[in-house]
Amino acid sequence: MKLLVVGSVAFDAIETPFGKTDKILGGAATYIGIASSILNVESGIVSVIGGDFPQSDLDMLTSRGVNVEGIEIIKEGKTFFWSGKYHNDLNSRDTLVTEVNVLENFDPKIPESMQDSEILLLGNLHPGVQLSVLEKMHNRPKLVILDTMNFWMDSAWDTLMLMIAKTDVITINDEEARQLSGEYSLVKAAKKIHEMGPEFVIIKKGEHGALLFHNGKIFAIPALPLEEVFDPTGAGDTFAGGFAAYLAKKEDFSFETMKSALIVGSAMASFTVEKFGTERLQEVTESEMIARIKSFKDLTTFEVEV
Ligand code: AMP
Repeated sequence: MKLLVVGSVAFDAIETPFGKTDKILGGAATYIGIASSILNVESGIVSVIGGDFPQSDLDMLTSRGVNVEGIEIIKEGKTFFWSGKYHNDLNSRDTLVTEVNVLENFDPKIPESMQDSEILLLGNLHPGVQLSVLEKMHNRPKLVILDTMNFWMDSAWDTLMLMIAKTDVITINDEEARQLSGEYSLVKAAKKIHEMGPEFVIIKKGEHGALLFHNGKIFAIPALPLEEVFDPTGAGDTFAGGFAAYLAKKEDFSFETMKSALIVGSAMASFTVEKFGTERLQEVTESEMIARIKSFKDLTTFEVEV
């Protein structure tokens, strides 16, 4: 199955307690594209960049099998730029700069070669832009996965509700789930979010893992305890990318397959945080990936007699 990704392709400048970077490659769609290439899933990105974006980064995506035909280049424009600084616990960060640049008037264009994608992953963007992508697809994809954040709840509530109503799987973090539902309990929050549309609700809890809710069933996974977390940027996007790519690979959207997809997404995200930006993710080999999934299995499997 083919995966269509819509999201930012960006420059990031990141500061963590361990160091800082100048402008490096970032953007939600970039992390998602690289994650799907690790699973050898056919994917394509729809995004927009400026004339300042290096051809070498586009070539890197192409060489990994990511279709970049849908990345529009506005020669006289500047690429989206985000800068963030992490606090000492690495769980929270302050956004220092957001220069929306060419993303301001983003009008997604879906190349004919990606129109038949079965899975659509809508990265965190204005819900109006996300909705326009669905409208532009000749046929509704079999599975629509949505990533969003509190910023859109504050600034575009009604449009976000329309988008959520058309979504099959929503991924948000715990605080955002509480804000979206008005419920503190994540179980109650998931129920309310189900009622808004999505059959599957994924709540990410950072270093505490993630929860998957469907039809009264809950599946929980921890995050892999890592010796070193260097830079959490892109962990959520990598998670979503690994999750979606696994479903594309298995060509199945059952709860059981989604449970495995959650593990794969988390395993991939555990690589992203080990170095700045996309650096570590770009190095991941298939055998490393398999070893990490096995670590997850060892971490979470137990028998108990009662
Ligand atoms: P995450 O750490 O998973 O939240 O994602 C970080 C990535 O999101 C960075 O690479 C940024 O370039 C990108 N990003 C940050 N803010 C925005 C925004 N407002 N719209 C689109 N992408 C963004």
